[in-house]
Formats: sequence, C-alpha cells, structure tokens
Amino acid sequence: MQLHLYNTLTRKNEPFAPLNGEPVRIYSCGPTVYNYAHIGNMRAFLFPDLLQRVLRVVCGYPVKWVMNITDIEDKIIRDSAIGSSEWLPAMGEQADNPNSNAAKLALHYEREFLNDITTIGIKTSDFYAIPRATDFIDAITDLVRKIVENGYGYVSEGSVYFNLNEWRKAAKYGQLFTIDTENFRAGVRIDADEYERDQVSDFVLWKAHKEGEPSWDFELSGKNLRGRPGWHIECSAMGHASLGLPFDIHTGGVDLRFPHHEDEIAQSKAGYGVETSAFWCHNEFLEVEGTKMSKSKGNFFILRDLLDKGIDPLDFRFAMMSVQYNYVFNFTFFGLESARKARFRIQDYIYDLHETPSETAELKSSYVVELRTEVFAELLNDLHTPKALERVFAYINAHPASGLDQQTRTQLIAFFTELNGIFDVWEIGERPVVTIEIPDDVRELAEQRWQAKKNRDFAAADALRARISERGFVILDTKDAYSIEKA
Ligand code: AMP
Ligand code: ZN
Repeated sequence: MQLHLYNTLTRKNEPFAPLNGEPVRIYSCGPTVYNYAHIGNMRAFLFPDLLQRVLRVVCGYPVKWVMNITDIEDKIIRDSAIGSSEWLPAMGEQADNPNSNAAKLALHYEREFLNDITTIGIKTSDFYAIPRATDFIDAITDLVRKIVENGYGYVSEGSVYFNLNEWRKAAKYGQLFTIDTENFRAGVRIDADEYERDQVSDFVLWKAHKEGEPSWDFELSGKNLRGRPGWHIECSAMGHASLGLPFDIHTGGVDLRFPHHEDEIAQSKAGYGVETSAFWCHNEFLEVEGTKMSKSKGNFFILRDLLDKGIDPLDFRFAMMSVQYNYVFNFTFFGLESARKARFRIQDYIYDLHETPSETAELKSSYVVELRTEVFAELLNDLHTPKALERVFAYINAHPASGLDQQTRTQLIAFFTELNGIFDVWEIGERPVVTIEIPDDVRELAEQRWQAKKNRDFAAADALRARISERGFVILDTKDAYSIEKA
C-alpha cells in the first residue's frame, strides 16, 4: 500500500516515497505570532499533523516534522508598537529596545499558539524542531549574501531585493501558481511581505532598518546593512538549516502558494542551488458562509471562543477530518454538533467492544482485516479521511458489537487503537462509569410523581415530570420502579 499525495508542483496525485530513504522530512509553514491563531489557521496545522501521523502509523516511516515560528514580520512590529499589559509589563522599555517589544509580543503569542495546538491534539513532541526566525538570523543573512553573490539579488537604499528579471532567465518562476507574464513588473520593487498576483515584482529579502523597528547587523560587501529579514527568506533559511534541501514535503495553506512559496522556491534555488521540496501540499480554506476565515475580514473565531461556548476541542479536531484537507471546509456550529455525534457513535462502539460478549448471542468473526485494509487504503489515497470514516461507519452499522465474538472484538480494539494513532479523538477502554449528582429537590419531585402515578393521578404526575424536566432531568419508568437520569 503506497501513499499518494496531490502535489501542487506537478498538479497531480503522485506516489510518495522518501527522497533519501528514511526519515521523511516535512516542513510546515508555521504561524506569524502577532495575535491568537484563528481556527482557520488551525486547519493548516491539523493537516500536516494528519499527514505525519499517516506516514508514521500507516506507512511505518520515521518522520522529521519541522514547523517554523515567524516571530519577526510587519504585523508583529505594527502591533508591538501599541504595547499590551499582558505581554509587555515594562512599558518603559518600549522606546529603548524595539527588538525586545517585538520579541515579547511574539513570545507571548507563541506560547498561546503552542497551548492551542496541544489542546486540539497536536503533540509538540511530534515535532523534530520548531525553529524561530529570530534564532536563525545568521542563516538568513548567509542566504541573502549567497543570492547577491550569485547575481540574483541587489541592494537599493539599504534593502536587498530579489532580481526577478534575472532569475526568470535562469529558471521558471510560477511553479505552484500560474503567473500571467503580463503581470511581471520589471524592475519594480515591493517592500511588503504580502502582495497580489498582479504585483509580481522584485521582492524584498532584507529590509533596511527603520527608526523604532527591530534590527540586526548584516555585513554585505564591506557595508553594514542593518535591518531585518523579509518573511519569505525566513522559511528558505529555516527549511535549509533544520532539514537540509531538498526535503520531502512542504505544507501550508493555499494562500501561501503565491507569493510566499513561489518566492521560497526561487530564493532557495538562487542561493543554495538546489530545489526546496519534492512535494508541495496545500490545505484548502476553512470558510464561513463562503468567505475565507481571516483576521482582516473579522469573520473569525479563535480556539478560546469555541471553548467558551462549551465546545470540546476534540469535536473540532474530528470535524476537520470529516472533509478532505484539500477541499473547502464550511464552518458552522451545527456542523460541529454533527461531528460530535459522529465521534461518539464510534466512541460508543469502542466502549461496547470492551464489554463481555453475551453467552446466548449468536457470535461471529467479521472481516476486521478487510476493514483495516479498506480504511488505510482511503487514508493513503491523499489522506481521504471522510471516505475512511465512511468505511468505519458502514462496518459498525453492519456489525453491532453485541453480535461479535471475543476474538473479533480483540481485533477491532487493536484496529481502533491503531486508527486512534491518527485521529486521536477516542478513548480506548471500557465505558467510564458516570455518577451523576441528583439534587435533593429533584429526588423529592420524583418520589411525589411516583406516588401520584401509583394513585392514578396522571395529571399531577405529568405536571411533576415537567418540573423535573425543567431541572434538567428525566424519569425512566419500569413496571415496579423508576430511575432519574440527566436529560
Ligand atoms: P499565518 O499565521 O497568517 O501565516 O497563517 C498560518 C497558516 O494558516 C498558513 O498556512 C495559512 O495558509 C493558513 N490559513 C490562513 N487562513 C486560513 C483559513 N481560513 N483556512 C485554512 N488555512 C488558513
Ligand atoms: Zn513559510
């Protein structure tokens, strides 16, 4: 069974094999830590989490997974100038040490980010490294220098730019994203990190120091170009430094194809002389009512918003897997509720499997090997989690646990344990005994109702049942007794 992945580089579903034998090296573009990540961003991290788990659990490969932290960037500088009592206790430092302000803001949101991804089931121990851009300034300046030495970079007013005209004579620019040649603006320089497809121009590698901005020394051709890195060069340098180039798989959201990833490919090839990655894989957006969830549109939720609404983060994790990673996910609260029900349908089945089979039932062994093969085949087919789940539901609907013998149950428990190495949203074990606290007044009402019923005063019994229900409980009657349950 071989993994096939959709490779944006070739626009094809391609069989995957590690480039240099094992381990598989994955680089994921990480967050820009200027604020809380929203749940759309979370999709961009749950996707490589799923990928690395399938590579480990189903393919059996060891994996080196790297995700960077962008801790120096335009938005971080913009927001760190404002200051916040949360992350900047000493406001007095602000004027004196801009690096420290940006660093504090970034560190604060980096911690929040790592907490958030842990809450949704991503294990920080699964990362080989989580490099921060500001820890790699030497690697970044080294790459900028190489690009200039190789004739693809130039200095203008203290900043360094990538010479796109020159580069296009040597290689293709527009590998992940079709770029209209008439959009090339020869000789035009762009300083912003984010720009549109009709602004294809010489992009910035290193930004000249501005008053009040964080900066580092950079010796180039005998001059000190004090400044800070552009966003794109950070990933080129960190990918190279932490994994070596080319690595196996590069991930990110579809919006990163251009300019971020396109520029990354150009810079790494122009500087190091090698390709960046064999596979480029992109997750589609999480949308709200047909629009990409984003900070700038204001249509976003952060994880904390979901937790405040009492939503279990594992329902969010599971919901993300109900749609294939490269299809748009339409976010609704109703959808989260359906995901919860689906998750618990499987959870209940797992609990049932742990019960002792009844001696009187007609017990069967049933096709666990086939189930495993089918489910894993779907996961290997470009991480098709919805189809994999469909197979699981078809099986559990056709084979209620009550009809299965011990051997089949044991095999199924082993299968769900393996599957949980990927999904990581279930408890493998016996159904926990839940003890519910029943308040005294509810017990009292229940007793009164039972007496009313015995006296055949059904109107009174119904009225009492309604009062019990208002308190959030239901009464279940048998012939000679009743029990109180949580509604
Ligand atoms: P940023 O911190 O803005 O660089 O974004 C981090 C990751 O989230 C990138 O891989 C983006 O492509 C991805 N991303 C941003 N918005 C969404 C969204 N609405 N749905 C899915 N991924 C997104
Ligand atoms: Zn990146």
